[in-house]
Amino acid sequence: MSFHRGVFNVRLLRLYLLLGLPLIALACSTSGKPGDLAPAAPVVGNLLGETMRDRGLMPLPTRPHPRAKFLRGIKICIDPGHGGDVGPEFERTNYKRGPAGTREAEINLRTSLQLAALLREAGASVLLTRDDDSSVSLAQRAEMANRWKADVFLSVHHNAGPTPEANFSSMWYHGTGSEHPASLDLAREMAGGLSRHVALPNANACGIYSDYLMYKEGFAVLREAHMPGVLAECSFFTNPREEELLRDPDYNARVAWALFDGLCNWAAAGVPSWRASSPMAGRLPIRLIDGMNEGWGSDEPRIREETVRILLNGEEFGAWELHRGELLLALPEDVTLDTVIDIRFENRAKNASITPARPLRECLPGRAVSPASWNAAPRATRPEPTDRPPG
Ligand SMILES: [Zn+2]
Repeated sequence: MSFHRGVFNVRLLRLYLLLGLPLIALACSTSGKPGDLAPAAPVVGNLLGETMRDRGLMPLPTRPHPRAKFLRGIKICIDPGHGGDVGPEFERTNYKRGPAGTREAEINLRTSLQLAALLREAGASVLLTRDDDSSVSLAQRAEMANRWKADVFLSVHHNAGPTPEANFSSMWYHGTGSEHPASLDLAREMAGGLSRHVALPNANACGIYSDYLMYKEGFAVLREAHMPGVLAECSFFTNPREEELLRDPDYNARVAWALFDGLCNWAAAGVPSWRASSPMAGRLPIRLIDGMNEGWGSDEPRIREETVRILLNGEEFGAWELHRGELLLALPEDVTLDTVIDIRFENRAKNASITPARPLRECLPGRAVSPASWNAAPRATRPEPTDRPPG
């Protein structure tokens, strides 16, 4: 038995309530119709309430998140995992489906749309790699984030396990923490969000893992995205009780809130970045921006100087000096517009810079993209006219 979404939600729900049929029967009938978009189920009995009590969870706050303001202006690409996996072949192999037939793709989408709404309300810019049940390749997803120049990439997934008991959250970043420190910052805060607001019973603290543990080259979607990113495996849809919860939009909202809370806390510690100016007299001036929004000590950049590292084409480079957040880099003779420049540093709250490594031609202001001018002496500044004495 299957219902068209919408008709099911309103008219039949009313009819069922009138007839006094148990809601659980409704939930069992909503799965698996090919082409259905996000067949959300209403709250089933008091499963969500019982779950919250068992896990010691508080109701979600109704007031705005106190740290949401720090997300204003940040460009976040949300990638709802999978999609478009409907049809006989997917049905036959039970592809990414829970024991009652709920598809991971629809859970990911519902959660991602709720997260997108929270982020937009907070003033962040959001790009979704899909906002319907379409199929998008991993390369396309990363490419969308790259083209849009997202600050942060977040892939939203739910997990499958070989046994029905398995149910825990995990947060994945690409490569090593020293190569991708900003991804690790994000992973830490977002894992904290899931631990606080979802608190799965197998291990209520969410673990943080490198994608090298899963594949030699890591996850394609994280590897190909040029900005800091994480992939969240929020919980297991192969756990029957969890699957039932994941059909409830109120539970998806809780997962979305957990991810949002993590992003708020990450942004509240400041989002450091850097910006290059035109090279002059063989030197490249670069502004290190601490990204910290308020608090004490803001009269000068809050940079942890001991963390500053510069890599040119992946090689450590030492000819630079830093003064009050202004970095002066002595350009080596063999530098070209294709030289990849990577500047790493942390702000005082220990958040790492999110500006990705990139060729010099992409860092410089337009008029500076002419190596011939790089060694020119600085233009003499015209002396300020001296004030005439009063009188
Ligand atoms: Zn997945």
